[in-house]
Amino acid sequence: MKIAGFNKTSFVDYPGKIACVVFTPHCNMRCDYCHNKHILEGYVPLIDEGEIFDHIEKRKGMISALVITGGEPTLQAGLVDFIKKVKALDLAVKLDTNGSKPELIKDLLDQDLLDYIAMDIKSPFDKYCQVAGTPLDIKAISNSIDLIKNRAPDYEFRTTFAPELTVEDLRETARMAGTKKVYYIQQYRPNPGGAQAHPPQTLRQAAELIEKDGGRCKIRGL
Ligand code: SF4
Repeated sequence: MKIAGFNKTSFVDYPGKIACVVFTPHCNMRCDYCHNKHILEGYVPLIDEGEIFDHIEKRKGMISALVITGGEPTLQAGLVDFIKKVKALDLAVKLDTNGSKPELIKDLLDQDLLDYIAMDIKSPFDKYCQVAGTPLDIKAISNSIDLIKNRAPDYEFRTTFAPELTVEDLRETARMAGTKKVYYIQQYRPNPGGAQAHPPQTLRQAAELIEKDGGRCKIRGL
């Protein structure tokens, strides 16, 4: 599998576990707020898989999970085989995804290769292509949401509160996420030249309304 970045130790990327994080290159979306634009297209220097597995072997006992993020990991042809190797080392695996490839998510779930899935729900469906910056198969996104809700051993849905989204949009995305798990609102951080973020009180207002609607909601990044 192509790997563009490696964080050897993370205390925040896998809930309750100390994890390594690998970043895969390339993505089929172009969110304006993406902070990994340097690995989305063109030439990206790669890290050898062997380096990752050497590190895991050395830190066995301390690291109990591996997080695969990107970019969009489900675009990687070698993803299934890579995860099989990680699972053989008895690590929990968390996949971060934009939800555009439900067939691959299903395949991974069918093979019991995932312990946790975190999916970005970018917006209500009518604004999805605008926020993702590209035309998209909305049905695929919807299928991924249903699949994760019904089949993932553990999961989270989260939405970056981009400037083009409203509080009502966030209520709608929270409804799409369902009420079984905590839904996360993430504060938007503009890239240079990007529009201003919503003020903290607007995020809090959205969270309060989502809870009034019967959901559980937390804010990240304030
Ligand atoms: S889906 Fe994620 S990796 Fe892809 S462009 Fe959007 S923020 Fe960046």
